[in-house]
Amino acid sequence: MSKLIDGKALAAQMREQMAVRVEKLKETGIVPGLAVVLVGEDPASRVYVSMKEKACEATGIFSDEHKLPADTTQQELLQLVDRLNNDPRIDGILVQLPLPDHIDEDCVINAISPLKDVDGFHPYSVGCLAIGNPTFRSCTPYGVMKMLESIDYDLNGKEVVVVGRSNIVGKPVALMCLEQNATVTICHSRTQNLAGHVGRADVVIAAVGRPEMIKGEWIKEGAVVIDVGINRVADKKLVGDVEFATAAEKASYITPVPGGVGPMTITMLLFNTIQSASQRVAG
Ligand code: NDP
Repeated sequence: MSKLIDGKALAAQMREQMAVRVEKLKETGIVPGLAVVLVGEDPASRVYVSMKEKACEATGIFSDEHKLPADTTQQELLQLVDRLNNDPRIDGILVQLPLPDHIDEDCVINAISPLKDVDGFHPYSVGCLAIGNPTFRSCTPYGVMKMLESIDYDLNGKEVVVVGRSNIVGKPVALMCLEQNATVTICHSRTQNLAGHVGRADVVIAAVGRPEMIKGEWIKEGAVVIDVGINRVADKKLVGDVEFATAAEKASYITPVPGGVGPMTITMLLFNTIQSASQRVAG
């Protein structure tokens, strides 16, 4: 039977340490600041934004909220981003996605200064990660790496199989594992023999968005299983992309859903914001 990697507990522990770091920064006259921009009324986005604001408050980070109506024009949004880029109180800018259809998301993300790109979505940040010289690492994959670090897992020479190749999870987490000298395979919807790939992995990272599609019987004995998927099924229950009960029989470590990778994402956003503020001190 495997051990759980408890993302909730790890996130709480990291946030405590970060609150101490923020206090120290404040002694030097610097209050880390995160601007959070929400356009429109998407209910899920509203929940995420409010969770981010609360997390900032609890950690001592200044949260600068901008809740804009759904009919905000792209030009108006770009002007706000430009103002935030130049605001010395702001160390990080987060524009909550998805944006309304009339706004070009790439154009908005590209307008965020790479120096304040705490979400790690700007092509500059992605490019820096790809060439092995990372600046801001995107938050969910970075959370995954912190979870592996929390169990002292050495990725050097290990077989990692990432299922999913999205820009926000699959690709960046694969690059981060490569950075730590793992041998990485990325699987996707066209992959043949997914079970075979998963079956030889020392570490399986699932980021697909399909409830329990990765079967426990595929998992190699002793593998580490990180389940990024969050899927709502009957009775509003949340499950991951991995068939948890059967996978837990074989894995050495496994992350639960909920309470696994989920809580780490906002934690890493705070982490990146504090990192950015620390660079203010250095600069
Ligand atoms: P996307 O929908 O952007 O990507 C899904 C990926 O899964 C694609 O690369 C797709 O392949 C691949 N895929 C789909 N079907 C199969 C299949 N049958 N076999 C193999 N691969 C398949 O999802 P995201 O990366 O944004 O999110 C993935 C999951 O992670 C979701 O459940 C999401 O809710 C969750 N998530 C959780 C976060 C958190 O914990 N904080 C943050 C972000 C996401 P192809 O490219 O070929 O289409």
